[in-house]
Amino acid sequence: MSSGTPPPASLSLERCAARPHGPGRQGRYCPRFTVGETEADRDGKWAEFKKKLQVFWPGGSWEPFTDTSHLPPEHADVVIVGGGVIGWSVAYWLKRLEARKNALRVLVVEQDPTYSMASTGLSIGGIRQQFSLPQNIQLSLFSIEFLRNINEYLAVPDEPLLDIQFNPSGYLLLASEEKAAVMEHNVKIQRQEGAKVCLLSPKQLKDKFPWINTEGIALASYGLENEGWFDPWCLLQGLRRKALSMGVYHSHGKVVNLVSSVRSMMTSSGEQVDLKRIYEVHVKVDNSLECQPVECAIVINAAGAWSGEVAELAGIGIGSPGTLQGTRLPVEPRKRYVYVWHCPEGPGLEAPLLTDITGSYFRREGLGGYYLGGCSPMEEEEPDTKDLEVDHDFFQKKVWPYLAQRIPAFNSLKVRSAWAGFYDYNTFDQNGIVGPHPLVSNMYFATGFSGHGLQHAPGVGRAVAEVLLNGNFNTIDLNPFSFNRFYRGKKVLENNII
Ligand SMILES: Cc1cc2nc3c(=O)[nH]c(=O)nc-3n(C[C@H](O)[C@H](O)[C@H](O)COP(=O)(O)OP(=O)(O)OC[C@H]3O[C@@H](n4cnc5c(N)ncnc54)[C@H](O)[C@@H]3O)c2cc1C
Repeated sequence: MSSGTPPPASLSLERCAARPHGPGRQGRYCPRFTVGETEADRDGKWAEFKKKLQVFWPGGSWEPFTDTSHLPPEHADVVIVGGGVIGWSVAYWLKRLEARKNALRVLVVEQDPTYSMASTGLSIGGIRQQFSLPQNIQLSLFSIEFLRNINEYLAVPDEPLLDIQFNPSGYLLLASEEKAAVMEHNVKIQRQEGAKVCLLSPKQLKDKFPWINTEGIALASYGLENEGWFDPWCLLQGLRRKALSMGVYHSHGKVVNLVSSVRSMMTSSGEQVDLKRIYEVHVKVDNSLECQPVECAIVINAAGAWSGEVAELAGIGIGSPGTLQGTRLPVEPRKRYVYVWHCPEGPGLEAPLLTDITGSYFRREGLGGYYLGGCSPMEEEEPDTKDLEVDHDFFQKKVWPYLAQRIPAFNSLKVRSAWAGFYDYNTFDQNGIVGPHPLVSNMYFATGFSGHGLQHAPGVGRAVAEVLLNGNFNTIDLNPFSFNRFYRGKKVLENNII
């Protein structure tokens, strides 16, 4: 019912208004609607009632007959920009680790409640231990423990248990002669961190997976446990449901402005540095030209592929080149296609997620002879990111020939569907950015995961909550993922990006 429409005469307005006004006032201030009066009469009485209400609620937005649950509150301790898997994971961990129940007022702002463009729902749900950086391996090890015990973390009383649909089929990475030494080195690190990964010679590979053509392969690494794929929606909705049950606020709207106070300082070399503190987040809600200001103490940038834009709202990257102020957050959308095909003669149930020496990959999809896969394009071939249209030629030219060469059964596949999604791509070193900005000291990042953010969401959420609440990473040290590396030009390279 809109705010200007009076309720039906049968509705007891006295009772509606009794609670905010206190006992004894209801008869005096509530409109009485009688049978036979015109719509205009009722509108007039209703307007009068609202005017009187303002006496008791000056400046208030009390509106009993309008659903305002999507609007942000006027203030929050922490505002999280982006309600994807990362944003909700941060919200969940903040509530879980807060020292006292209800100590923190946390708000998640999401511009698109249908998640039509968000990476989370468009990902292929993979989790692996086979990274080259200890931090990424540790994040994956924590995530698998989280996923295997998801109901111990995310169950909500009286709600159905979560079924993450984990397929523990492993990842199989193939290496050419040229890359074999790097693979060997990576596996050494993975084992040091506690991952169960084995190396396979071409002969061992053929014995285990006879459907693979081993031509051009010098070495393979295969995850023996804790790798496979799961349902991304289940993780997102599970985190969201749990966080809401713990008192997190959510709002549907786009963060369009971040208002800061500025303190200017001079460095010893005479350079002016502006230290900023965001004190208000402006949220533009649907069907309104106005923005809702939310007073806040901390802002978390978890806007995925769009987090570079959100950083700019705080002035990050706007300054002289080569200065900290002029260093932008190097995260942008990169379009990735996923194709689904049917091939009853394909590798079958025991197929892991395989990545070829050419970069193309596939995995089984369900049990009916379906597979999905794709390939990241070369830097110079990156498609435009104005929409999520699929380029079907890309499959014909850049994916199918390589996969059919590697798995001859795929010569007879038939493509049945396809989709595209955006990687939250860190153009600097394809790795996450976690922790505060050095100059905008109350903006924290949780972004830039470049194709592995879904599986790392549980650990990243915990890490951000730790650094925010305790000032340190307590469980996994993610200091190497700080923003400062962009200014210093120090890459934290992950070799295994798919
Ligand atoms: C095809 C594909 C396959 C992938 N496969 C895997 C995989 O196998 N394993 C894996 O770990 N990862 C995978 N990923 C990557 C993974 O999906 C992402 O890293 C992860 O989902 C990032 O989560 P997020 O919450 O940061 O981003 P998102 O899910 O994109 O959420 C960010 C949200 O922020 C919102 N937002 C943006 N700007 C604003 C604003 N100004 N105001 C309010 N809201 C805003 C957006 O609407 C969006 O919903 C894949 C990605 C793609 C595209």
